[in-house]
Amino acid sequence: IGTLWVVATPIGNLDDLSPRAQKILAEVDLIAAEDTRHSHALLARYNIATRSIALHEHNEREQCEKLVADLLAGKNIALISDAGTPLISDPGFRLVRSARAAGITVRPVPGACAAIAALSVAGLPSDRFVFEGFLPAKSSARIQRLRELGGETRTLIFYESSHRVRESLADMASVFGEQRPAVLARELTKLFETVLDATLADLMAKLDADANQQRGEFVLIIGGAEEEGVDGRLAEGRRVFAVLRTELP
Ligand code: SAM
Repeated sequence: IGTLWVVATPIGNLDDLSPRAQKILAEVDLIAAEDTRHSHALLARYNIATRSIALHEHNEREQCEKLVADLLAGKNIALISDAGTPLISDPGFRLVRSARAAGITVRPVPGACAAIAALSVAGLPSDRFVFEGFLPAKSSARIQRLRELGGETRTLIFYESSHRVRESLADMASVFGEQRPAVLARELTKLFETVLDATLADLMAKLDADANQQRGEFVLIIGGAEEEGVDGRLAEGRRVFAVLRTELP
C-alpha cells in the first residue's frame, strides 16, 4: 500500500517550500494538484518532473476513487493545493477521508498556511482562536454568520478576497462595533506584504484612503468580544440597580 502525503506549498514566496516537501514531491509517483498549470511554476522552479493530475472541488468525488485505488495498488501520491496547506479552505478533505477509511497511511508535510502566518504577526491573542475561512458571499448570510460570532471571545480568523474585503469590514463594524481591534494581513510573503493593525473603523478609513490596500489576498483577524468576567457582571448589576432605583417608589 502506498502513502498519501499532504504537502503544504508556499502562499506567495516560492522559497517557502521545505527541503522535505521538495524531496517528497520529487519522489512520489503522482502529484494530485488543485490546478496543475498553477502548480507547474512551483514544480519547475525546483526541477520536479513528477506527473500531476487535477483534483479540485468539481472532480474530487470521481478522482478520489481512482486515487484511492492507485494508493491501494502501491503508488505513493502527494496532494497539493494552489497555495498553503491543502484542506484549509482548499480541496482534499474527501480524499483524505476516503484514504483513511481504506486503511491508507496519510502523512503531513507541514508548511505555509495564510491563517497561521497572519495570526503569528497580528499581535492579537493567539492562545485560543477560531478559524472561520471565507464568509458567505451574500450580505444577508454574511451578517447572519457574523451575528452568530458576536459574543465569541476567542480571536477570529477569516479569509477574504479583494472584491469583498471592504464590504465585509463594513458588515463586521456593524455587528461587532467599529472599535473592535482588527488586523488586515495582505499579500503575506509577497512584494506588497502589508499588515494593518487597527480598529474596524480605522481599517475601513485606511482602505478608503488608499485603493491599493484593497488589492491582493487577505487574512482578516478580529479580536474576540470582551470576556464578561466578574468585573463585567458587577458593572452590569450596578447599572441595572441604578435604573431600578429611579423607577421604584
Ligand atoms: N490553503 C490555503 C492556506 O493554507 O492558507 C488557503 C487557500 S484559500 C483558497 C485562499 C485564501 O487564503 C485567500 O483568499 C486569502 O484569504 C488567503 N491567502 C492565501 N495566500 C495569502 C497571502 N499570501 N496573504 C494573505 N492571505 C492569503
